[in-house]
Amino acid sequence: MNSFSQLWSNFSQFDNHRMILRIEDKKIGLSGYIAIHRGGIKRAAFGATRMWPYESEKQIVIDVLKLSKIMTYKVAMAGLPYGGAKAVLQFNRQSGSRLAVLSRYAEIVDIFNGRFITGADVGINTADLHLMLKKTKHMVGTQSDPVWYTGMGVYSGIQVCLKEVFGSEDTTGRSFAIQGLGKTGTSILSNVYKTAGAIYVSDINKDAVKKIHELYPKVKVVPFTAIASQEVDVFCPCALSDAINENNIDKFRCRIIAGSANAQLESDLLGDQLYKKEILYAPDYVINAGGLIAVADEYENKKSDKDRVKKKVIGIKNTLRTIFRLSKQKHLPASRVSDMLAEDKFKKVQ
Ligand code: NAD
Repeated sequence: MNSFSQLWSNFSQFDNHRMILRIEDKKIGLSGYIAIHRGGIKRAAFGATRMWPYESEKQIVIDVLKLSKIMTYKVAMAGLPYGGAKAVLQFNRQSGSRLAVLSRYAEIVDIFNGRFITGADVGINTADLHLMLKKTKHMVGTQSDPVWYTGMGVYSGIQVCLKEVFGSEDTTGRSFAIQGLGKTGTSILSNVYKTAGAIYVSDINKDAVKKIHELYPKVKVVPFTAIASQEVDVFCPCALSDAINENNIDKFRCRIIAGSANAQLESDLLGDQLYKKEILYAPDYVINAGGLIAVADEYENKKSDKDRVKKKVIGIKNTLRTIFRLSKQKHLPASRVSDMLAEDKFKKVQ
């Protein structure tokens, strides 16, 4: 083991990452990490940028290691020829200007000279991307609308899950619990709103909840501590990492878990437990790949074409069908099957 690996192997989330860069500019309040799991040398590594008020440095490191690894799996399962990466920035309201932080961060992204391609994740919006584009062209998600495609992909994936569990893709009368009412949570809500029988929602941000309740009066707001235990057909995690964890695994009363969040499982063992409980789990990095597919298309083509991207995103349905079929055939959790398929794909291209 070399000294780089030795240093990082204290973290179980470390998976022989190609590069981990700590970034800091104390004067303006910038701090965070860029991690490249695979790719970044011969081929570009894709991964959006997250900005969040993490409670500790350790939390940031764990998240960036997990999220960058997941991107490699996502890229592989979406059939794209890239690597996986992620950037996580500490958001600190007290320390300096957000614009200055994003602007400086974009200058750092530019140093990668196109080996790291990034866009908007939690805490970053399209206006931020436009600001950062002034400093680097290696920012995607301004020509297309990745959130729309993420929502479309998750909705299509939910249909596949409904068919698997209830024998029909129809969302009419089905019940949902949506955790997180940000960009993607709202997009999924808008997709199921008209037909759903009941929709429970939660967010830690009271303003977001208020806004959603005004726009979608039919939703039932529940405390964020209670959303995972709602008795519903589908639980949709659309917030941060570890939505399914050791503390809440026994509380789930849903038939399906399918949402936009990355790193939904706190550990691989949680996927096994869902399988034992006969809760169908749509692997996060498969069902939420719509946004990635859209930005990769933007990266590869001068002109955006909605029909072309939609056709690619709809492919998520077949990928999920294959995973569920193999899961049944091999008597293995969908999460394990999906990991094996992804590893098989990306290990062939280093
Ligand atoms: P966002 O910042 O727009 O929204 C996240 C929301 O989650 C915020 O409103 C926040 O207050 C809320 N939240 C945080 N902790 C919560 C908790 N414990 N309970 C309830 N709500 C909580 O982010 P987003 O872009 O919608 O991303 C959400 C998730 O989807 C992330 O895991 C992200 O990585 C993933 N994702 C996003 C995209 C995309 O296109 N933006 C694509 C694929 C995956």
